[in-house]
Amino acid sequence: MLSASSSRSSERSALRVGGLTRFTTIDFPGQLAAVVFCQGCPWRCGYCHNPELLDARQPAALEWNAVLEFLRQRRGLLDGVVFSGGEPLAQSALPAALQQVRDMGFATALHTGGMYPERLAAALPLLDWVGLDVKAPWARLAALTGMPGSADKLRVALVRLLHSGVAHECRSSWHPGLYPLQELRALGVELQRLGLRHWVLQPCDDPRQPGSAAAARQALAGLTPGQEGWPMFQLRA
Ligand code: SF4
Repeated sequence: MLSASSSRSSERSALRVGGLTRFTTIDFPGQLAAVVFCQGCPWRCGYCHNPELLDARQPAALEWNAVLEFLRQRRGLLDGVVFSGGEPLAQSALPAALQQVRDMGFATALHTGGMYPERLAAALPLLDWVGLDVKAPWARLAALTGMPGSADKLRVALVRLLHSGVAHECRSSWHPGLYPLQELRALGVELQRLGLRHWVLQPCDDPRQPGSAAAARQALAGLTPGQEGWPMFQLRA
C-alpha cells in the first residue's frame, strides 16, 4: 500500500493533464488517436488558442490515471495517443507517460514548439511521429513567443528531429498581419535547405485580428508548391 507521502509524491510526478480529446483523425497522420493536452507552456504567443493551458501551476483538469483508464478501454479502437499542449516537453513526467502509453500498445505522437531541444532528443526514441511548430522566421520568433532565445532552441530541436529518423512534419501558422509573405517563403526555403521534406502551412486564426485566417487563406491559395521560388509545402485548411 502507498503511504500518504509516497502517494503525494506520485501525484506530483504524474503528468498534469489540462484536457483530453477522445477521438481525432487529424492530429496524428494515418492514425485514429486521442489527444492529451498537457498543462503548462513557457511561451506566450499572442494568438495562442489554449491560454488556459499556459500556467504550469494550475491543478490538473484530469488525473493521469483517469487518462490511462480511458486508454485501457480504447485498446483495439484507437491506434495512437498524441501529446499536445501547452508544451508537453515542459513536464519532466512526459517520458514516463510516453512509455506507459507505448506499453499499452499505442503509437505515440508529440506536438511541440521546440523550446526544449535536449528533452526532445531524449524523448525521440519513445515517439512514432512529431509535429514541430516553426512559428516564424528565426529573427521574428522571440517577439512572437515573448521569449528571448526561442530561435536558438527551436533551431537545435529542428536539427535533432531531422536527424532522428522519426516521422515528422514542421508546421508554420501564418496570416498577413504577422509578417510578410516573402518572409514565409524564405523560411520555407531555409527549412528545405536544412533538410525538411514535409512543411505544412496553416492559416492562422488570430483572436486579436478577426478575419486573419480568411486573409491568410486568400494569400496562400494562389501559391503553387515548388514553383515561383516556393519550396514544397502542404496547405492545411
Ligand atoms: S507555444 Fe503553443 S501553447 Fe505555448 S503560448 Fe505558443 S501557441 Fe500557446
